[in-house]
Amino acid sequence: MGSPRLRAPRRVACTVFALAVQSASAQLNLEPTLPLLPGLSAPGGAAPTVTVPATDPSEDHTDGPAAPPPKPPGNVKGLSLSGRVDGGVPRAAPLGIPRVGKQNGYTRVVLTLPAGATYRVTPDGRDLHVDLTGVTADTLSGATNTDELRAWRLTPTPGGARLTLTTPGVTTRSGWHNLLLPEDGGQSARLVTDVSPAFFDTRPLTAAERTITPLPAPAPGDNPADRTVVLDPGHGGKYPGAIGAVTEKAVTLDIALRVRALLRAAGVTVLMTRETDTHLFTSLNADLNARPALATNQARLFVSIHANAMPAASVNKGFGVETWWNPNHTGSPALAQALQANIIRMTGTFSRGLKNTQSLAVLRGAQVPAALIEVGFVSHPVDGDNLKDDLYLDRLAIGIAQGIRDTLAAP
Ligand SMILES: [Zn+2]
Repeated sequence: MGSPRLRAPRRVACTVFALAVQSASAQLNLEPTLPLLPGLSAPGGAAPTVTVPATDPSEDHTDGPAAPPPKPPGNVKGLSLSGRVDGGVPRAAPLGIPRVGKQNGYTRVVLTLPAGATYRVTPDGRDLHVDLTGVTADTLSGATNTDELRAWRLTPTPGGARLTLTTPGVTTRSGWHNLLLPEDGGQSARLVTDVSPAFFDTRPLTAAERTITPLPAPAPGDNPADRTVVLDPGHGGKYPGAIGAVTEKAVTLDIALRVRALLRAAGVTVLMTRETDTHLFTSLNADLNARPALATNQARLFVSIHANAMPAASVNKGFGVETWWNPNHTGSPALAQALQANIIRMTGTFSRGLKNTQSLAVLRGAQVPAALIEVGFVSHPVDGDNLKDDLYLDRLAIGIAQGIRDTLAAP
């Protein structure tokens, strides 16, 4: 954020806040008996539950095929809208109570399924419906009230049963992951569903998605400033910003350089307040004032890029993207709206919406439409991972670039 004196009270000023190192032991299990799933139950890079002995080639005298590599720890990554458990279809079997486990930044729900059972997932706003066949169920519900799962509800249906998970928000491509584990050595098949509003759209980008629509060619006499934007990677040098999974000053520069490359290819002129790890002035006030001043008479828009953080005691409460604007210019709300909408469209991550309840120093002095994007929380286990993920950073950058391009092209 731009000004440490003008932050929302529940969050922490990113210019002064250093996040405590996350402890894996802070993980809370709502259900202590939740079985550890092979290769899936060590969230956030915590110590794996299965120890794989170090390989010493001199001791390898086996002739058999090598064992398959262990699955990566952490949340499951797949998104499967439907599937079927192997095996014949006996008569429908009673469904057990869903097992719910709070993990680091997400909540896991495990259903044991009989042979031949099928599932179909339907995201619907805040509800993730899982329709099952091959099972029977009574009406049953539970309040979980984790930050990722408010409640679950099991209801009988003509074909079997429906499990509904009430979350902060899900789409067909974000907010949840799942994986069907086949029957294994006497253990029944299990459908593992992880929910977190910070799970983003992990589909690979297409070439078309990576291209920003070019601006129309300039006409003779056009003011070059009209196709120019100032990009401001927040903080830098002696001002690190928020420190967590990533350091704010580093990730904001990384994103801004990606945005610049996309915009240049679309015919937009980009001025950067910084291109390296540096502050503009040693005085914080001078540093913050110099950033929007670069746009004066030179650019049509000013866009500042920042990352959020929460205090160590409430890291799971802060996730998602928000965009701030100030009443410095009548064009600022539309710019903020275009940025926020395009970022959410591209990433699929949780939208915290537009904010204008505080005056931000880095926006206040701008003489052109200006907005400040908070690209995620360096303090959140999943958001923090996202901010280290090239695909998330690319999706963010495309959303930001498209929002800027659309605003420049608007009459
Ligand atoms: Zn900041």
